[in-house]
Amino acid sequence: MSEPSVTQTATPEPTERRVRCPACQSWCLFSPRNPYRPFCSAQCKGLDLGAWASESFRLPEDTPPDGPFGDPRLQ
Ligand SMILES: [Zn+2]
Repeated sequence: MSEPSVTQTATPEPTERRVRCPACQSWCLFSPRNPYRPFCSAQCKGLDLGAWASESFRLPEDTPPDGPFGDPRLQ
């Protein structure tokens, strides 16, 4: 028995790596076809850069909100 000779016209699909987008955690293509790798889109690429920036300039969470509490004028 022998395998029937198949004419390979199309190049076999290369193993496409998939990675999780660091921004939205969704699977995206990690290949030259994805210019935004390892992100899934330009939006996520920008968002991640924004996250990096805001990471450095994050405001402390214990900043007192502007409210009636603690306002000396009400005491
Ligand atoms: Zn994404």
